[in-house]
Amino acid sequence: MKWLEWLPGLRPPPAIADRAWRKALATHPLAQRLSTVDQKQLRLLVARFLQHKRFHPIDFNLDATQRLLIAMQACIPILHMGFRALRGWQGVVVYPGEFKVRHRHHDAATGVLTEGDQILSGEAWQLGPLVLSWATVQQDLERPWDGHNVVAHEIAHKLDMLDGPPDGVPPLPRGVSWRAWIDTFQRAYNRLATDVNRGHATIIDPYAATNAGEYFAVTSELHFSDPRQLERAEPGVAGLLRGYYGPSPAP
Ligand SMILES: [Zn+2]
Repeated sequence: MKWLEWLPGLRPPPAIADRAWRKALATHPLAQRLSTVDQKQLRLLVARFLQHKRFHPIDFNLDATQRLLIAMQACIPILHMGFRALRGWQGVVVYPGEFKVRHRHHDAATGVLTEGDQILSGEAWQLGPLVLSWATVQQDLERPWDGHNVVAHEIAHKLDMLDGPPDGVPPLPRGVSWRAWIDTFQRAYNRLATDVNRGHATIIDPYAATNAGEYFAVTSELHFSDPRQLERAEPGVAGLLRGYYGPSPAP
């Protein structure tokens, strides 16, 4: 073996065994709906994910199939972008269920320090790990078209943070206009925020009205789990997300 091959980035990833791939595919509704060509591309990306990312299960055993399923969920959003879209971080922390985190926020203008506990099913820090609840990932695999997908949500944050703090605008590919993105998302965000403030029922989860980053992450979940509802609620956003991620494999 040449010394260069020891560097993980240059070594080709070990191929995923046929049996393991078929077993994971049988319980992965989104991947099942991909074309044969896209499934082949997904398998290559997943092999690289398993080679480069480090899983850290907290107080439970995360078996090889579970790792494979998480990697599949994480690579579906980047199917048409390439593995480089997942650069800049390595860890995947997995809790067996929802987890509690303590957040501190210091407001520079008022000097107020806010601190509180939150129960979360996923989290993504800039340059830090992806944090997931296995129970939530499993629920997404069992109910794939219910509008929720925790891994797609957190990967959206990761993509958004490739060019700095999350602001709802990831680096855009050629063919997706930055101007159209800003205008369309801003107007859609304002509509949702107004509806939420007035107490109206909304198709898009009100959590998306938290800020622009959450709006992008929540609508990304819809793109991969209920694109028809997104199209109904915000056709402009739905079109831009198709341009960004590629067509949704969801029905
Ligand atoms: Zn979020």
